Amino acid sequence: MKVPFIDLKAQQEKIFEKLTENIQDVLIHGKYIMGPEVFELERKLAEYVGVSNAVSCSSGTDALLMALMAYDVGPGDAIFTTPFTFVATAEVIAMLGATPVFVDICEDDFNMDPDRLKTAIEALLEDDPNKYPLPANYAEIKPRGVIAVDLFGQPADYERINAIAADYGMFVVEDAAQSFGAECGGRKACGLADVAATSFFPAKPLGGYGDSGMVFTNNDDLAERLKSIRIHGKGRDKYDNVRIGINGRMDTLQAAVLLAKFELFPGEVDSRQLVADRYASFLEDSVKCPEVRPGRLSAWAQYSVLSEQRELIQKQLAAEEVPTAVYYPIPLHLQSGYAFLGYGEGDFPVCEDIAGKIFSLPMHPYLSEDDQRFIANVIKTA
Ligand SMILES: *Cc1c(COP(=O)(O)O)cnc(C)c1O
Repeated sequence: MKVPFIDLKAQQEKIFEKLTENIQDVLIHGKYIMGPEVFELERKLAEYVGVSNAVSCSSGTDALLMALMAYDVGPGDAIFTTPFTFVATAEVIAMLGATPVFVDICEDDFNMDPDRLKTAIEALLEDDPNKYPLPANYAEIKPRGVIAVDLFGQPADYERINAIAADYGMFVVEDAAQSFGAECGGRKACGLADVAATSFFPAKPLGGYGDSGMVFTNNDDLAERLKSIRIHGKGRDKYDNVRIGINGRMDTLQAAVLLAKFELFPGEVDSRQLVADRYASFLEDSVKCPEVRPGRLSAWAQYSVLSEQRELIQKQLAAEEVPTAVYYPIPLHLQSGYAFLGYGEGDFPVCEDIAGKIFSLPMHPYLSEDDQRFIANVIKTA
């Protein structure tokens, strides 16, 4: 490929010494499970986000799962979420026997629409699927919580989502897998709801060299439950089991890698913004560029544009060895694995419309202006 979709190599060159030093330290002390690097990373990231508790774990998916488990989510619980996200968001709900209740997105930021959230809650409370599309078992479930997603790095509208959830006695989880480093109203992503889950999958804004994730919360009781759930529901120790948990720990080696990468991270967030600004100025006449709402900063996990000519543009870019991707081609309510929910085509029209014309361009902090001009010209010509 002429231009990499994400460039982990350029980043690695900048911190190669620190990386090998950190990894060597782990090899020397040998505490591969819950070693000192794990706790150092938790302290540093909690401080960066500005919340009192950070609980590291094995993936972004497990971070979401642990957050729901900490609220004792189970059968009978309706968890409102978006159909336009990576499958993990809905998967953890279903895994616990609870029911994902989908809410359509806003056209501008692709995140959960608070007005539709309110309508969906009312429809569920009134057992009225004519008021808003509901899952097949709507008569058996009650509003319990919300998982909003900060899609492509832009925080959702938590000011309104938190207020609506509070009115109905529900908790809010921020799926910040794509938004670590983003901001809203001067506050950092991962600190915008009751509890937040992020991912350090290699392609995320702060990515490691493998799977891992983190849960953030200002609620100390919840943090204690999360730490117990992370290690098989431990009480005094892992042979005293006070609840059902998982094996959800982050490897010490992964924490050592992330500590080295975190030194570059604040600068990388700034560089991503610069790259996004350049795309916006080069592409304004050819595709619909992403909009970030006033008061928000995106972490730019993806740079996703809209065009009715998506296939043609993607083909031309591929011919010039420029990779693109479609996030997400099939909304979750139309996935065969989720057919049991009984949703159908037309239930979430905004999401379905956007899924038909969205695609993502190469995005990373080390993308050069020349490469961006080249990409923009191929798109213009197409
Ligand atoms: C990546 C992602 C996850 C899952 O994170 P993993 O670390 O891959 O388990 C969850 N939600 C969203 C929105 C994601 O993008």
